[in-house]
Amino acid sequence: MDQVKVPTKINATVVFLILIASVITYFTYTHFPDQTLYNMSFEITPIFSEDNLLKVKLKLGIPSKNNQNKIDFYTGDKNIAVIHCVDDKGNKIIFKEEQGILSIPTKDKSKIEILYYVKIGVLGKHGYRGKIYDDLVVFDGGQVLLFPIDFYNEDFDANQCEIGSIAIKCNVKESWEKVIPYERINKPTWFQLYALYNSCFAYGDLEKKEYKKGPAVFRIYRDVKCDSIPKEAEVGLNYLFDYYASLFEFVPDDYSIILLRRNQEDQQYIIGGAGAKTVGSTFEYTDLRDWQLMSHRMFHGFFETKVKSKKFFKPPQLWFYEGLATYYENKSMESLPYDLKTSLSLQIEDLFTKLYREYIYMRLKYHPLLTLTPMNEENIIAFPAKAEFLHYTQAPLVIKALEDLCANTNGSNTILKYIINNYNNDEMLSVKNIVFHCLKDERNFDFYNRYFLNDEILPLWYLSENKSNNEDLENVINDLNFIEYTIWSWLRVDFKDLPLYQVEKNDIYRLSKIKQIDNVHFADEDTEEKVKQLSSGVYYALKEFVLRSHICNVDYKNPISKIETLLTKENIDKWQAWISTHFEGE
Ligand SMILES: [Zn+2]
Repeated sequence: MDQVKVPTKINATVVFLILIASVITYFTYTHFPDQTLYNMSFEITPIFSEDNLLKVKLKLGIPSKNNQNKIDFYTGDKNIAVIHCVDDKGNKIIFKEEQGILSIPTKDKSKIEILYYVKIGVLGKHGYRGKIYDDLVVFDGGQVLLFPIDFYNEDFDANQCEIGSIAIKCNVKESWEKVIPYERINKPTWFQLYALYNSCFAYGDLEKKEYKKGPAVFRIYRDVKCDSIPKEAEVGLNYLFDYYASLFEFVPDDYSIILLRRNQEDQQYIIGGAGAKTVGSTFEYTDLRDWQLMSHRMFHGFFETKVKSKKFFKPPQLWFYEGLATYYENKSMESLPYDLKTSLSLQIEDLFTKLYREYIYMRLKYHPLLTLTPMNEENIIAFPAKAEFLHYTQAPLVIKALEDLCANTNGSNTILKYIINNYNNDEMLSVKNIVFHCLKDERNFDFYNRYFLNDEILPLWYLSENKSNNEDLENVINDLNFIEYTIWSWLRVDFKDLPLYQVEKNDIYRLSKIKQIDNVHFADEDTEEKVKQLSSGVYYALKEFVLRSHICNVDYKNPISKIETLLTKENIDKWQAWISTHFEGE
């Protein structure tokens, strides 16, 4: 582009004016917060004498032109008790707290102080969510910080925010290392608040290692109560970071991983949060699952720093986002150093075959419960077990199917490349536009129709070509029992007393040897043949389920009623009796 010549004298004046403006802006932002917006300042104090308790003082500066008479905070996502709320003269303010909304009147107030306690450390799917020890305080922002209700509002404009500034301070030992997403943000965007909400806050005795990545820095912190990180794990984490930097074609300014201890009494994991800035978790470098989880969280970190569209955070597109993260948690494993891959016995295509086996098994066994139409996510998400299955089993396979279909013409990572090229164009980033742009021909409507708008079985049967001739039955059955366990743990939210169905490897092996099993069917002939090619473990496990139902005279169509009835004491005995008469003496 041609340079416009500016006379030197004007040039100097302009520079001077810009300088003055910058100084004013700097002072306004740092010393005189924007009076037309809310200013929030959190002071967090861990109560070490109590079990996982934090005291939080929130000082709220109310906008001078405040035309709202109240401010509402959402509290339904945290375990808090509000102690008091006073104005700057110390007068009590009567607040309301109902249905997860804390409502505070702000009329004629300029400053308000809210004091509340937060309980953290609930045991969940990935371990304790946050923990406080004498030498470590760790939590995620969403657990502890109050966010105005607008933050949760789906239609809320990502660039509009009623917060002028937000500052966070934690009263812990001066000598402690602190790893936090932000200490202060002026005029936060929705994406920064989202990062604050999800990221990890860690304070304690942490050993730091820094790695320069172009103009940015990547940091790994180790809780000193963990064993030291072996070189190969350190290299592995760096390779993963580099993999995502190359995939997303950018490096986040600063990104930190905090490797936490296990909880000593029960050896459970601790998860301190995972966001665009920081991720904190217990991490066993000898466990492949931990590498996948770390990679999944890194994917979210890079994506949420790069892509400026809120579409991906809510139905009907959230499943697609989780699908991408889970697809890459598997695919990225190829980037790990050779020695590490060997010690983890890692075969990349096997990871997708394993996922597909689990998908086929659960989908056919739990039909129609787990026969899901992805774009119907809004209704699906009300059932945690369905959401779990859609997000982490079905969705990554939809991505895999789409990627494989594009691979011949476009090479790899087609979907993500398209998203990155349109990173701030909301309209271009709808699922439909993504699919249509990736496929670019007449296949697109058909594909979109079958697997996005309908619930057809994903056609990844070709993954069976990767399997070795002799399938490791024990491994396969363990995987099937594990996905069954995971889905069961979520099903229990809706069906409290549902028993857990687990397949016995021995039964499967013995059933596969008898003639009678040929007359037992779980699907049409063509599908059964494909399942058999994919995995004999899945094939016979599905046959076992049908046979067992015949033997026990259970003919419910609904899989929940079927399992409940099959696993009554009477029916377990009936099945055991059948097994022992048929395989006597074996
Ligand atoms: Zn995720």
